[in-house]
Amino acid sequence: MNQPSNNKNEPNPSPPKDFLPKNIYWIYLIFGVILFSQVFALQQFSAKEITWNKFEQEILATDDVRLLEVVNKEELRIYIKEDRLEQEKFADANKNQFNAQYYLEIGSVEVFEQKLEKAKETHNISQLPDVKYKTETNWFKDILGWMLPFILLIALWFFIMNRVGGNRGGMGGLNPYDFGKSKATVFDKNNRSQTTFADVAGLEEAKVEVMEIVKFLKNPTYFTRLGAKIPKGVILVGPPGTGKTLMAKAVAGEAQVPFFHMSGSEFVEMFVGVGASRVRDLFKKAKEKSPSIIFIDEIDAIGRARGAALSMRSNDERESTLNQLLAEMDGFGTNTGVIVLAATNRADVLDKALLRPGRFDRHIYLELPSMLARKAIFKVHLKPLTLAEDIDVDALAGQTPGFSGADIANICNEAALIAARGGKVAVEMEDFFSATDRIIAGLEKKSKIISPQEKQIVAYHEAGHATTSWFLEHADSLLKVSIVPRGKSLGSAWYLPEEHQIYTKAQFEDRLCAALGGRAAEEVVFGEISSGALDDLEKVTKQAYTMVAYYGLDDKLGNISYYDSTGQYEQSIHRPYSEATAKLIDEEVRKTVTAAYERTKKLLLKHRSELNELAELLLEKEVVVKEDLEGIFGKRIKADRSTRKVA
Ligand code: ATP
Repeated sequence: MNQPSNNKNEPNPSPPKDFLPKNIYWIYLIFGVILFSQVFALQQFSAKEITWNKFEQEILATDDVRLLEVVNKEELRIYIKEDRLEQEKFADANKNQFNAQYYLEIGSVEVFEQKLEKAKETHNISQLPDVKYKTETNWFKDILGWMLPFILLIALWFFIMNRVGGNRGGMGGLNPYDFGKSKATVFDKNNRSQTTFADVAGLEEAKVEVMEIVKFLKNPTYFTRLGAKIPKGVILVGPPGTGKTLMAKAVAGEAQVPFFHMSGSEFVEMFVGVGASRVRDLFKKAKEKSPSIIFIDEIDAIGRARGAALSMRSNDERESTLNQLLAEMDGFGTNTGVIVLAATNRADVLDKALLRPGRFDRHIYLELPSMLARKAIFKVHLKPLTLAEDIDVDALAGQTPGFSGADIANICNEAALIAARGGKVAVEMEDFFSATDRIIAGLEKKSKIISPQEKQIVAYHEAGHATTSWFLEHADSLLKVSIVPRGKSLGSAWYLPEEHQIYTKAQFEDRLCAALGGRAAEEVVFGEISSGALDDLEKVTKQAYTMVAYYGLDDKLGNISYYDSTGQYEQSIHRPYSEATAKLIDEEVRKTVTAAYERTKKLLLKHRSELNELAELLLEKEVVVKEDLEGIFGKRIKADRSTRKVA
C-alpha cells in the first residue's frame, strides 16, 4: 500500500492561542525565587559532617562549643566559639559565623540527651553548652513532594497525547486539542500529486468513470443543467494490487481541486469519540475548500457492517466513526462540491447503509488485469528501464495470467535488479523469466542439501504432476518442470493457466487429478507415500470442498450453495446447515478426492514408461522445458472449447 507522505500543506497543527499564557516570564520568576532559596538553604548546610566520637572528644571535651542546635529532632548543628576557630583542628570547618560549623544526625532527642549526659560525666565537664531546639520547614522539598505526582501525571498525559496524536514535530504532536483533528494528506495546487491517468494502465472502463468525477467538479453546470445530480461518493472495489490507490492518486493529479487522502485505519484510535471527530473535521476542511475530493483508502477499517456478531469485542468506537461518516455523507447537499472516493478489497463486509445510492452512488469494480491490460501495465513499468532488443511484451503478458498490476510492477523491478546483479547493460527477456519464476516459486536454493533418495522422490513427484497434466484434456498447459529447490518447495512445475470466467465440472476434476499426480506417482513407483504432497493435498481439499459446498457440482448434495457473499457466516458461530448435511459434505468431498486419486493412478500406470523417462531426465538435467516434454510425450492434444456441443 502506498502510504501518503507527510506534506507541507497539511492543515497547520499549531496550538490554539490560549493554550499557553501569553507571558511566560512569571514562570522564570518563580523558578528564580525557588533557586535562590535553595542556594541560601545550601549555604546553611555548608557545615561539615562529623562523627559523635570526634565531636565528644575533640570539641565538647575541650569546651569549644558556643551553641548546640537540634533541628527537627533529628539533626545536631554545632557552633564553635569564635576565638577557637583559628585553631588548626578546625581548619576544615565552615568559617561563616552565622552558620553552624559542623553537623551530625542524632537519631532521636532522648538518645542525644543521654549521650550528652554521659559525655559530661566521662570528661568531667562542669557546664554543658546551651542546647536550642528548633523546627525548620523545607518549602521546596514539601512543595515538590506535593506537586511531583501531579507533574508526573501531566507529563504522562502529554506523552500519551503526543504518541496517539501522531508526532508531527513542534507543538503539533503535543497539543491535546489536535487529537480529534483529521490527519489527512492534502494535495492541492502547491503540492500536486505527480500521478496522472497515463500511469494507470489497462483499467479503461474504470478510468472513464473516474474521469467523469473530475469533469463534474470542473464543470458541474454541464451536468446539472438537465437536472442531474452530481454523485456524492464513488467506491473502488477490487483484489489487492489492482490499482485502486493508484487510480485515486491519478484523480488527485488530474482534478486540479484539493484532494484529501486518509486511510480508514487513521480514523480509529484507542479513545472513544476520536474517530467520529476526525471524520467531522475531515469533512469540514473539505467543505471549506470545496470543490474538493476526499479519498478514504481501506474503508473497510471503519465501514464494516454494524452489529456484526464479532465475539465479545466492543465495536463502539468503530461504529460511532461509521455513523459519523454516514451522517456526513448524508449531510452535505449534492452541489456542495465534495466528492468522496473510497477503496477497499472487501466490499462484502461493508455496511449496507454505506453502499446505498446517495452515499456511494457508484461502485467501480477493478478486476485482475486481462492479457491486454497486462500488456498495457507492462508497457508502463518497462518505460523507465533500459531494455535489450529481445523484449517481447506479448510473451511477458502471456506468461503472467492472474498477476495483479502490483505483481507486474514487482516483476519489472526484480528483472532490472537481476540484470544489474549480472553486470548487464540492459534488461533481457531472460531476466524477466527469472524474475517471474522467482515471484511465482520463490528464490532458487541450489545450495540446499538433498539426499539422492529424496531427489529421486522429488523427480518422480514432479514427473507425476507433469505426466498427469499432459494427458488430461482440461489441465493447464505445462511449460517447465524443475527439481531445483525454490522457496519452501523442493520441486516445481510451471503452467500457463487459461483465463476462464467459469469452469465446468470436468475441468475441476482434471485439475484435481493434476494436483494429485505427484502423490499418485510416489505410490505407483515406490509403493509408499511421503510428506511431500502437503501443498497439493491442501489445494485439492479446498477445491473439492468448493465444488461440493459452493458450486453445487455434487450429485448427492444437489444444486445447493453454502457460499456467503455477505461474509456473515464467517462471523457467526453456527453453520448454515445441519449436522447431517455437514456429514454428507464431508463424505462427498472425500469421495470426490478419492475418485480423482484413483483416476490419476490409472492414468500414470498407463503412461508408466513416459513417467520413468521424464523422471530420469529430471534427475539428469534438473530443469526440463516444453520441447523436452514434447520429445517424451508427443504433442499435447487440448480440448477445443469452441467445438463444445450446445444442448
Ligand atoms: P490494495 O488493495 O492492497 O491497497 P491497490 O489496489 O490499492 O492495493 P495500488 O496500491 O494502487 O493497489 O497498486 C500498487 C502498485 O501496483 C502501484 O503503485 C503500481 O505500481 C502498480 N499498479 C497496479 N495497478 C496498476 C495499473 N493498472 N497500471 C499501472 N500500475 C499499476
